[in-house]
Amino acid sequence: MSAVTSLSALARLRQVLGEIVDLQRAAELLQWDQETCMPPGGVEDRAAQLATLQRLAHQRFVSAEVSRLLERAEAEVEGLPYDSDEASLVRVTRRDLELAARVPSDLVAARADAAARAAAVWREARAASDWSRFVPAMEVSVELSRRLAEAVGYEERPYDALIRMSEPGLTTARVESLFAELKAFLVPLVRRLVDLADRVDDRVLDRPCDRDAQLALALEVIRRLGFDLNRGRQDLSAHPFCAAFGPGDVRVTTRVGSTLRDSALLSSVHESGHAMYEQGIPRSLDRTPLWGGASPGVHESQSRLWENLVGRSRPFWEWCLPRLRAVLGETVADVDVDLLWRALNKVRPGYVRVEADEVTYNLHVLLRFEVENELLEGRLRTVDVPDAWAARLYDYLGLERPADALGPLQDIHWCSGMGHFVGYTLGNLIAAQLMEAVRRDLPDLDRRIADGIFGDLLGWLREHVHRHGRKFTPDELVRRATGSPIGADPWIAYVEAKVAAVYGLT
Ligand code: ZN
Repeated sequence: MSAVTSLSALARLRQVLGEIVDLQRAAELLQWDQETCMPPGGVEDRAAQLATLQRLAHQRFVSAEVSRLLERAEAEVEGLPYDSDEASLVRVTRRDLELAARVPSDLVAARADAAARAAAVWREARAASDWSRFVPAMEVSVELSRRLAEAVGYEERPYDALIRMSEPGLTTARVESLFAELKAFLVPLVRRLVDLADRVDDRVLDRPCDRDAQLALALEVIRRLGFDLNRGRQDLSAHPFCAAFGPGDVRVTTRVGSTLRDSALLSSVHESGHAMYEQGIPRSLDRTPLWGGASPGVHESQSRLWENLVGRSRPFWEWCLPRLRAVLGETVADVDVDLLWRALNKVRPGYVRVEADEVTYNLHVLLRFEVENELLEGRLRTVDVPDAWAARLYDYLGLERPADALGPLQDIHWCSGMGHFVGYTLGNLIAAQLMEAVRRDLPDLDRRIADGIFGDLLGWLREHVHRHGRKFTPDELVRRATGSPIGADPWIAYVEAKVAAVYGLT
């Protein structure tokens, strides 16, 4: 008997899946390069390379070989516990395969190719602040998202198919009901806080912040939080992101601004939250479909938790302000913790999602979620997106119509289709829900954070979130970690308490 045939079907399945993961990671490395170092002339070639790698990975995954091995592996793991590595690997691979098998390889390649081409068009359209220039690429993007939804299948709404691919177990209706709770709470709250704007002076954030000082502080802080530089690095890119190529290589990017308001620090903290999640997934799950975040929403819960619930908290600034003083010197010599913390939490309705405060942020996502559903369902024409955008911006945030560059052209996401934004709001909700559970287990968390001790918090997240990789659906994971399915109440309670403290409300 040869060595190969003596292996179990599960072991052979793992070998094949490992090769598929390698192809996907090679594609991700090419994407990292595209965002950090590639010259603009590389767009056409890079689009072809990405399309090829993604098509090869997809073809290999939907092959007869994987189907055959998976069927035999399912028999081998029968009776093993639901949360065991083996049973989870087989279950999640089956779930991924069922979805992947519904999507033809030419659609996968067409989406990758269209996304890379649309990105170049988007950059030009945004520079000219002219939505009409992006309309042809957007038409293709909407059409490909529709084709994807049709291929995956849905009963009620096209968006159900997209959310099924990204946030398994959730539906459009469920997301709509979470958004309805948020909207009822947020729209009147934002109006009230705009009227109380005088109570919080945030001019300190407009003070200059030296470029090298920003980067040095950002790196010091994320190392202290627990980002392992032996297995990661930080580079610059226009839009910060995290890219993971395996347990030993998880990279973040950041950007530098000119003031405290747009300094690298909280952007780095955000991305390091993503990166610490990936670094916390056990090696035993590596090169399998179980290695990675449970969903974009759960991934975002980790970045938001570190950025907002830690990085914008008063205890964090008790620890961090002396470090800020050490790198900025005179610039912040007169600033105290209270002033800086309140400034960082001021609610300021604005046009740009990525610059939004915690309170208005979810309304930016709601706007996009509604526009996407209307586009997918044919209730809105692509050319009319700026009008639909402006109407909602006024209703939700009280803002007048923006230039296209600050309106529907501000995000790159639509280049690669619809359905990406919901994860950001799910992430906010899950972060607050996890933090409630953390505080039950670590009642003196605030004191530890004020002392610069973050290991207990990271340890809790490793234990309850990171170590599971993709074993569980978002709801399963959140229920195991907190006792309840994903809900809006913890986030609403967190925001109510925070704005009351920041604005001195009774
Ligand atoms: Zn993020």
